[in-house]
Amino acid sequence: MKLCIATVTVPGSLPEKLRAIAEVGFQGVEIFEQDFLSFDGSPREVGQMVRDNGLEISLFQPFRDLEGLPEPHRARAFDRAERKFDLMNELGTDLVLMCSSVHPEALGGIDRMADDFRELGERAARKGIRVGYEALAWGKHVNDHRDAWEVVRRADHPNIGLILDSFHTLGRKLDPRTIRSIPGDRIFFVQLADAPMIEMDLFYWSRHFRNMPGEGDLDVPAFMSAVAATGYDGPISLEVFNDQFRGGSTRHVASDGHRSLVNLLDQVRRSEAAVPWKLPDIPAPVTAHGFEFIEFAANETEEQNLAELLGSMGFRKAGQHISKHASLWRQGDINVVINTEREGFAHSAYIMHGTSICDIGIKVADANSTVARARALGATTFSQQVGPGELDIPAIRGVGGGVMHFIDDQSDLGRVWDIEFRPVDGDGHSADAGLLRIDHLAQTMNYEEMLSWSLFYTSIFDATKTPMVDVVDPDGLVHSQAVEGRDGRLRITLNGADSHRTFAGQYLARSFGSAVQHVAFQCDDIFATADRLQQSGFESLPISDNYYDDLSSRFELDADMLARMKARHILYDADAKGVFFQLYSRTYGDGMFFEIVQRTGGYAGYGAPNAPFRVAAQKRLGPQKGMPQH
Ligand code: MG
Ligand code: MG
Repeated sequence: MKLCIATVTVPGSLPEKLRAIAEVGFQGVEIFEQDFLSFDGSPREVGQMVRDNGLEISLFQPFRDLEGLPEPHRARAFDRAERKFDLMNELGTDLVLMCSSVHPEALGGIDRMADDFRELGERAARKGIRVGYEALAWGKHVNDHRDAWEVVRRADHPNIGLILDSFHTLGRKLDPRTIRSIPGDRIFFVQLADAPMIEMDLFYWSRHFRNMPGEGDLDVPAFMSAVAATGYDGPISLEVFNDQFRGGSTRHVASDGHRSLVNLLDQVRRSEAAVPWKLPDIPAPVTAHGFEFIEFAANETEEQNLAELLGSMGFRKAGQHISKHASLWRQGDINVVINTEREGFAHSAYIMHGTSICDIGIKVADANSTVARARALGATTFSQQVGPGELDIPAIRGVGGGVMHFIDDQSDLGRVWDIEFRPVDGDGHSADAGLLRIDHLAQTMNYEEMLSWSLFYTSIFDATKTPMVDVVDPDGLVHSQAVEGRDGRLRITLNGADSHRTFAGQYLARSFGSAVQHVAFQCDDIFATADRLQQSGFESLPISDNYYDDLSSRFELDADMLARMKARHILYDADAKGVFFQLYSRTYGDGMFFEIVQRTGGYAGYGAPNAPFRVAAQKRLGPQKGMPQH
């Protein structure tokens, strides 16, 4: 099986596209006529350039409006086809995609169309060309792969075969299982694309909103499983038209595409009893058992500020690194490291972003196989010089250039706190405030990066994504989506800022793209926690009285509870299963903050209805004490 991608999927000039496509690991390309026309070179030169990159041209496309035409249109269409075949011979490819006709004069009639294809097959055979027929979802007479297959079957010519495209099948809500009855050797090519579930004109949806398998809502795995069942093991290609990708980075789009294909094929291999293709096995999607630690990069002054803030939240200093300027702060199962080293990764993160979370530790069953899966999916591994007595903890690069380390209990990694840190006597300054574990991390990014990072997480981990919600900021919109492990122990919210004027956008700009903007800690009695925090000098984010008026109109809450929440600035939300309480710290430095939450009865969300009130309160308060702006 060859992994391919249509040149139209990737932004850039044709030479840039080809280089990136080859570098990330594809073997073939579909050359789009438009790419070829806008390139200043002969078909022969284009073919050579593709081959010089170690790629093959797996398909040339598109050819439109051939079948079912009356004369004189019919003769002209066949002439056009002959000229295309000549051009393909110069390019060095033998397969052309012919999409079902949208010609206003096209007559339809399955036998008429089959006759046309039989004649076309004869002409193609003389020039060494094969023709693949694709049912466009908006085709005039043929808009269903089953009808396209019937045309191909009746044409009964070895040079005429079928092309399947997941968008055209799934976008029209056709059952992909119907593919299972098509013989695999009559399928010439398979194209894949996903898309978000939006009700809109099919053509417009197709041309602007397609995305990589796994990035949208279509059941591409079911489509691909059906293709596998036919025995087809030819090229699998990404044909994705997406407005965001057109403005994106050539390399990133190509690499996301490769990641999505490797992930999809792995998924199908795990769900199907047998698959016809041979690809290297990769470790299974990783179950994350929660967050093991977060690490801040800081300087000494800011370490003081941060220590004070953590102290006011009930954390105690529990350890000092054996050789580094790094301290460990603990409460419940939460480990927070503050790193003030003058060299190494944390220091460069500090120089770049100021005080920020530069490293996230995730607990897994097997750290090495986690990194092996991430690497197979194109993630960048991370390592730095390990000092005497220190552990080499497997790691990859994540959002915003941050690092993600993996800790397991199989090796010494699970004892990292005992091995790398010397216990210190708590400073007695703080009493435990009832914080138990990290509930979620919230990462801020540009809106255009959201698809990419949600694919990153959902392909490496056994995790799903929630539907995207819009959070209204007084100065714009923030799109928010959560990635969640199946057992709820991994929760990361991705917040995509459209504009630099939103609170999230300001943070991105001020911190030069640092990702983690807030950390939420879980407790199981938020009122008791709030009282203890107040005693230890923690300053919560003041929430307006209007919020509580609004709340009492949305939920039936008793007056006493409303008053207790109001007195402590606690926010409230509920879903069908349970209740959610939230409490925020004031903002810190470039706009980071902490959140304290309590979930009851299986509440599954993140308090999205409260976000506008939180953002308004943060903006009202303005920049806070903490690190200098930079
Ligand atoms: Mg297609
Ligand atoms: Mg949150």
